[in-house]
Amino acid sequence: MIHRRNVLALALGSAAALASPGLAQTSKPRTRIVFLGTKGGPRIGVGASNPANLLMVNDTPFVIDCGMGVSRRLVEAGVSIPSVKYIFISHHHSDHNLEYGNLFYNAWVAGLSTPIQSFGPKGIEAMTRTYWELNKFDVETRIADEGRPDPRKLLIAHDINEDGVVLQTSDVKVTAFRTPHPPITDNFAYKFETPDGVVVFSSDTEYNPKLADFAKGADVLVHECLYVPAVDRLVAKNKNGATLKKHLLESHTSTEDVGRIAAAAAVKVLVLSHFVPGDDPLVTDENWTEDVKKNFSGRIILAKDLKEVALPV
Ligand SMILES: [Zn+2]
Ligand SMILES: [Zn+2]
Repeated sequence: MIHRRNVLALALGSAAALASPGLAQTSKPRTRIVFLGTKGGPRIGVGASNPANLLMVNDTPFVIDCGMGVSRRLVEAGVSIPSVKYIFISHHHSDHNLEYGNLFYNAWVAGLSTPIQSFGPKGIEAMTRTYWELNKFDVETRIADEGRPDPRKLLIAHDINEDGVVLQTSDVKVTAFRTPHPPITDNFAYKFETPDGVVVFSSDTEYNPKLADFAKGADVLVHECLYVPAVDRLVAKNKNGATLKKHLLESHTSTEDVGRIAAAAAVKVLVLSHFVPGDDPLVTDENWTEDVKKNFSGRIILAKDLKEVALPV
C-alpha cells in the first residue's frame, strides 16, 4: 500500500524530473561507439553479425563498414536509419560492403530526405552507380507510384585514392590510412578525431607496425584479430582449406601481434573485433585476450554485437 506522503513525494519527484531534462530521460553519451557486427568473414552465422560499426557524435551517426546485417543492427541499436549521415567502407571484401547499397536503400524507404555521403577505396563510386542499375525497376516504380524523392541524388560516393583527411565536419575529422590486406592494397584504416577523443578502426590488415604510428595515442583502437590456434579447425570446414589458411595467416593480424600494435601505439583502450573465427564455440573470451596481454598491459574490451563504448574513456 502506498501512503499519501509517498504519493506526494512521487509526484514531486516526477515534477522535478520533468523540469530538468537531464533527469527526465536517460541521455546517451555525446560520443559513443556501437559495435553492430563483430564476426569477421562473409559467412552468415547464427550469433554475431558480419562486420559493421557505428560511431555516434552529437547524434550524428557515422557507419564504418556494411557487412550483412548492418541495417537491422542499427534499428536494434535504436538508431533511425535515415539519420545516418556518413558511411565509410574500409575495403571491398564483401563482409565490409555487401549491405552498403542496401543500407542506403533502407534509409530511403524509411523516409530519407537529406543526402548521405559515402567514402571508400577506389570502386565505391562505380559500385554506387551499379547499384542503381541493379535496382532501376524498383526505384523508378516507387518514385512514380509512391512519390518518393529520387534516391540517386541522395547518395554521394567518394573514392579515396590516397592517405589523408577525407572529411572534416564541425566536430569530427576523419583521416584515412592505407594498410596492406593481401592481396588487397586499396584498404583503409580510419581515424576519427571527436570532441571526446580519438577512435581508430584498423580495417582488416596484415600485421602492420606503421598502423601503430597512425593510431599513436588514440583513446580507442578497434583492431581486427585472428586466433591462430583455431585456424586449422576453421579451414577444415572448407574445400579450399589450404588456400584459405594461407589467406588468413598472411592478411590478418594474430592476437599476439594486435597486442604489439596496441602497445606501440600506447592507446588507452584496445577493442578486439572482426573475430576470425567469429563463431567457434571452443574459443573462449580468455583465448582472445591471452596472447594480446603478452605485449599490451592496457585496457582490453572484446566487442560484442550492440555493445557500446562511451567516450571519453
Ligand atoms: Zn573482413
Ligand atoms: Zn578483408
